[in-house]
Amino acid sequence: MSSPTPLLANLNDEQHEAVTLPPRPALILAGAGSGKTRVLTTRIAWLIQTGQVSPGGVMAVTFTNKAAKEMLTRLGAMLPIPVRGMWIGTFHGLCNRFLRAHWKLAALPQGFQILDSSDQVSAVKRVIKAMNLDEERFVPKQVTWFIAGSKEDGLRPKDVQARDENTRTMIRVYEAYEEQCQREGVVDFAELMLRTYELMRDNEALREHYQRRFRHILVDEFQDTNKLQYAWLKMFAGPQAAIFAVGDDDQSIYAFRGAQVGNMAQFEREFKVEKVIKLERNYRSFGNILDSANELISRNSRRLGKNLRTEAGPGEPVRVYESTSDFGEAQWLLEEIQQLHREGMPRSDIALLYRSNAQSRVIESALFNAGVPYKVYGGLRFFERAEVKHALSYLRLIENPNDDTSFLRVVNFPTRGIGARSVEQLQDAARVSGRSLCQSVGAVTGKSGVNLQGFVRMVDDMREATRGLTLREIIEHMLHASGLVDFYRTDKDGKERLENLEELVNAAEAFVTQEGFGKDAVALPVDEVAAVSAPQTESVRQELAAAVTPDAETGEIMSPLAAFLTHASLEAGDNQAQAGQDAIQLMTVHSAKGLEFDAVFITGLEEGLFPHENSLSDVDGLEEERRLMYVAITRARKRLYLSFSQTRMLHGQTRYNVKSRFFDELPEPALKWITPRNQGFGSGFAREYQSAWSRGSGMGSMVGAGRVEPRAPAVVPRAPSHGLRAGQSVFHNKFGEGVIVTLEGSGDDARAQVNFGRHGTKWLALSVAKLTPVE
Ligand code: ATP
Ligand code: MG
Repeated sequence: MSSPTPLLANLNDEQHEAVTLPPRPALILAGAGSGKTRVLTTRIAWLIQTGQVSPGGVMAVTFTNKAAKEMLTRLGAMLPIPVRGMWIGTFHGLCNRFLRAHWKLAALPQGFQILDSSDQVSAVKRVIKAMNLDEERFVPKQVTWFIAGSKEDGLRPKDVQARDENTRTMIRVYEAYEEQCQREGVVDFAELMLRTYELMRDNEALREHYQRRFRHILVDEFQDTNKLQYAWLKMFAGPQAAIFAVGDDDQSIYAFRGAQVGNMAQFEREFKVEKVIKLERNYRSFGNILDSANELISRNSRRLGKNLRTEAGPGEPVRVYESTSDFGEAQWLLEEIQQLHREGMPRSDIALLYRSNAQSRVIESALFNAGVPYKVYGGLRFFERAEVKHALSYLRLIENPNDDTSFLRVVNFPTRGIGARSVEQLQDAARVSGRSLCQSVGAVTGKSGVNLQGFVRMVDDMREATRGLTLREIIEHMLHASGLVDFYRTDKDGKERLENLEELVNAAEAFVTQEGFGKDAVALPVDEVAAVSAPQTESVRQELAAAVTPDAETGEIMSPLAAFLTHASLEAGDNQAQAGQDAIQLMTVHSAKGLEFDAVFITGLEEGLFPHENSLSDVDGLEEERRLMYVAITRARKRLYLSFSQTRMLHGQTRYNVKSRFFDELPEPALKWITPRNQGFGSGFAREYQSAWSRGSGMGSMVGAGRVEPRAPAVVPRAPSHGLRAGQSVFHNKFGEGVIVTLEGSGDDARAQVNFGRHGTKWLALSVAKLTPVE
């Protein structure tokens, strides 16, 4: 075995102390780029390497999927063990995992699906309509916020205080919405958290099991946890776990969503943290960048107080550019980017940041027209595009015909003569009988009834025709059988949409091959049984084992389709991208948290935009905007660029802007103002640009640079009793001949990942699946 990397070799004294703290609750409070995330990751590796905990005894919570993947990759490089099955992920990802394992206790259907935010709004809208409420008074989006907010405060409908008539009505909507979700077998993001929390709170055996299991719980970006997340952590930690929290009060940017910096002080008190460790050396940025960040944030009044210094020199000055129009700004960005790239900076090390998603359009257009590859994070994400959502809806109906949200989305898309009135009739019938829409089509009479039945039959036929096919084949079949392909072929924007549908097939393919088809989403409950060495309560063991009910016929543990659909909801945050392509990174400041880039451009620094207009009237709001700006500045390693524009088209209106107040809060010696060049609406560039815009060029198409993560080493089989081995050819009654890729577990829990060629790669429970060796 290769000797392990000297884990602690490159840490400074404070970092070293933090990494090797005794197993007790700890808080690391430190500024941007001081190595918090590095310390957290190194601590996990150190704890495992020194035998203080097994990989199964660690839980680590990160803020984004991207961060979780990065952490797994880094750990994989530090430790000679498989890290894949470890409990490292976002709050939502971990809750999904928990509820997949305990779906029965959580009163969910085994294949429950997750609503993303736009699904959620349409689901709420349906409830509002069904209750005959005025949508102008009860705006679906606002009611959705009310429901999500209540859940994030840990409140069920019965717990929300009915202050006035209005609230009383919203509570009734909340209640009806819950019933609807339950009936349809779907959960929203906040529900993932709340349901997990409640199950832990109410089920003693389960609570004891997990509290005994997780000896170490590590949380990154602790300053942004909300009330429910805090309570959730406490529940998993129990009285004994060593919670290791790292955070930076100056980077708290989710107060508007209920995050509470106060959680840090509360944590210190409740968990009796003996010593708060501060890290003061910044390893990320050059002096001018760091000075700018320090000076800006010093204007905030409520701070826990810490300093940041760097031993790197001042570096380049921070460049500031004033433009007359947003087009001019985009053109300047383009030129600077191309210059940096010519000088040898990879595109993926360049980030363009903006305060609001709407700002990205003009920048995307400039990049697109110049043929510069870019990747957008956030914004309209791949899995949220209309055509992709239509396709996913058909797939969900194949998986679960009672998913009413999906039913409504595609019942008349492409059009098949089912009008709004018939749908209403159907919804009424479903409401009266308390059944799903699909189950109620018989109640609608006349021609619409016939059409509705035709739709249900079509979906049934799809399910029948795709049984046993690979994920790719299922999707391809669905795309044709549903009429989606024919529809987009004749649609005027159809070309780009068809490309996105092809991309969906690619995404599915990548999911199957790269992820060993979503092992995280699939084989977990069995892993739970096998991987945990801690003694388990028998009832919990049985519950975990029961969670994996293999298909009686094929022995398959969870259909690749169901796994892929879960993946699509949870990963909606990152758009799919072509592997290996070097692309400029575009994102909002919020989604840049925790990341770093060689060069960072902060654009649209105008009053009303950044700081945002909603924040201008109150001090707290303004301080939050300043923290956001602090986050933006501190993403940069070598170069920082700031830009603003005198005019800007936003939401269909031209705005005349004043430069952001943040410029007055930066140290003048660190800045360099660049003289504007000839630009503006009158220039040839702007005209060319406008026309590209009105042609509706394919901006925002899926260009990207998704890195292919190195694969984790395969798990070593433990004393197999089935006599099979990896690499062996086997025969399965249904899927035919295949080759064993991986073997895991033993006895009744033994399972194999088998590549069946045309049928794709599948996880099979060996106690059910009949696999005969082929010589
Ligand atoms: P943020 O607040 O933005 O999340 P952070 O405190 O989590 O920042 P990291 O991302 O862990 O900081 O580290 C910032 C950079 O500094 C990374 O590139 C990291 O590898 C590097 N770094 C941290 N500590 C050291 C060290 N002791 N020696 C060399 N490089 C280091
Ligand atoms: Mg970090």
